[in-house]
Amino acid sequence: MEKEIICIVCARGCRSLVCEDEEGIKVKGKLCKNGQAYVKSEYRDPRRVLSTTIAIEGGSCKRLAVRSRGPVPKGKLLDCVRYLKTKKATPPLAIGEVVVKNILGTGEDIIACSPLETNIS
Ligand code: SF4
Repeated sequence: MEKEIICIVCARGCRSLVCEDEEGIKVKGKLCKNGQAYVKSEYRDPRRVLSTTIAIEGGSCKRLAVRSRGPVPKGKLLDCVRYLKTKKATPPLAIGEVVVKNILGTGEDIIACSPLETNIS
């Protein structure tokens, strides 16, 4: 099945039509080398960086901004968000420190986007 994919690697937003047959993935449209790689990956295995917040251990009403270190499969984003609702960040944490390792077996860690001090209220 042919699928329209807009390349988001740069601001030009080039459009393409992508399909797959027995010879492999076919791309129609004028795309650069980076764009070709992106739309093929997007067609076969779309992934996104997950950005959200997580509760903090100790009853604080504040939440910690977190993100996945790399992109996770698009189809698992909602499951990851639901899973993170059951987790809490334990201070202290530095920026980039792992909050949840290998979330749902995706191979990607969830990391802190800002430092989390021990004494927060
Ligand atoms: S195909 Fe190349 S020029 Fe077009 S949006 Fe993608 S990266 Fe940019």
